[in-house]
Amino acid sequence: MRIAVVGTGYVGLTTGVCLASLGHEVRAVDVLADRVAGISAGQAPFHEPGLAEMLGKALSAGHLRATTELAEAVAASEVTFITVGTPQAEEGIDLSQVGEAARQIGAGLRCAPGYRVVAVKSTVVPGTTDTLVRGVLEECSGKRAGEFGLCMNPEFLREGSAIEDFLNPDRIVVGQWDEKSGQVLAELYGAFACPKIFTALRNAEMMKYASNALLATLISYSNEIATVCEATPGTDAETVLRGVHLDRRLSPVINGQRVSPGILSFLLAGCGFGGSCLPKDVNALRAHARARRAAPRLLDAVMEVNAQRPEQFGKMAEEALGSLRGATLAVLGLAFKPGTDDVRESAALAIIKHLVAQGANVRAYDPIVKAGSGNGVRIDATVCATPGESVAGADAALIVTACPEFARLDWAALCGRMRRQIILDGRNALEGVSWPETARYIRIGRAIGNGTR
Ligand code: NAD
Repeated sequence: MRIAVVGTGYVGLTTGVCLASLGHEVRAVDVLADRVAGISAGQAPFHEPGLAEMLGKALSAGHLRATTELAEAVAASEVTFITVGTPQAEEGIDLSQVGEAARQIGAGLRCAPGYRVVAVKSTVVPGTTDTLVRGVLEECSGKRAGEFGLCMNPEFLREGSAIEDFLNPDRIVVGQWDEKSGQVLAELYGAFACPKIFTALRNAEMMKYASNALLATLISYSNEIATVCEATPGTDAETVLRGVHLDRRLSPVINGQRVSPGILSFLLAGCGFGGSCLPKDVNALRAHARARRAAPRLLDAVMEVNAQRPEQFGKMAEEALGSLRGATLAVLGLAFKPGTDDVRESAALAIIKHLVAQGANVRAYDPIVKAGSGNGVRIDATVCATPGESVAGADAALIVTACPEFARLDWAALCGRMRRQIILDGRNALEGVSWPETARYIRIGRAIGNGTR
């Protein structure tokens, strides 16, 4: 099929490149001319495993073309996906990019003969597609919904495994204005063998929020258990949660084998969730609920717990060091999770902010995020090129992202470069490391001094 994706961020470019790899003819549109030029030259604008290689193949096969010409792309396509950003606004969600994209797509539809489908892939609050998007499309195209198709097709890919997630989805959800609209996406996704749900537009919109709200809730639940354990000498959140995991309803025994579902990775102590999706989506759902007088009490608490964890971790550092004033601290991990360069709403930034406010000097290292990168988000720390550089002369090293490479570092050598050999593990990711006798390793989820060396 001929497809346009409007917005070439993590979702749009992944969608475009993956659909191109399946033989579809894709036009990837962005307002950013530099980004479009880079994509046309085969450069992925962000780090995502496998994306650059697949982009190169799609370009050389002639299956993908990047462009700033939105109207032309719409006119040339049977399906246009809206994959622009929906950032957090003061109150809820900022839908201005979606509105603007719909306006330009509508203008494109005006001059495009025949039946075309517009599918919203951006995460939008229930009611956005059938009110805002439909209204703008109708006004700008001079056509009624029905004359063009309208779908809401939420995206569940995860940064760091976006290609794999897109090509092997656990579900495909299609909200449809009418059956005819949904049938076009049914055809597009015909080769995908996963369960598919065709439903009302608002159900599709809500499903994305309900899914992310569940993940956020599990994380905050685990972090609340961790906070209570940290205040209860003799308890250890990790051991406690491991016991919780063994409930057969969470980890079933199949053919005599214990199965460990991925959901259990959300039931671990940590120092808070971040990223471009969970915080903003939970906040958007809260604002949406509140505007309808459906008080989101649980989600309010989820965000409150999440806001508290980075500070709690900073306090642990303070307790371990005596004072943070004038201390030099190495922060390992800047991205909101391993395998990505995305620092939006990363817990690392909240932790660094807290440490700096307490008078510490922070030297950060991340395997992927480098000085000057990070989606233009301000990082209040010196970003070092190597772990050795960040820990040199440090009073403590704080592990903030569970990057697997951190456990493989030569910690004997790194500790030798530190002024004080204190390691605080905010993700309990370095438990397998054999620490030098001189080092003090402190992990979260238990009282400081209880189980530290
Ligand atoms: P992003 O911010 O990385 O990219 C958005 C892109 O859209 C930018 O390149 C921007 O220049 C472009 N854009 C904005 N307005 C435009 C317009 N009028 N015409 C053309 N291009 C325009 O966003 P993202 O992370 O890819 O997220 C996109 C949407 O998908 C959001 O709603 C997000 O919540 C949702 N989502 C994201 C993820 C994720 O992991 N990032 C996963 C699932 C869903």
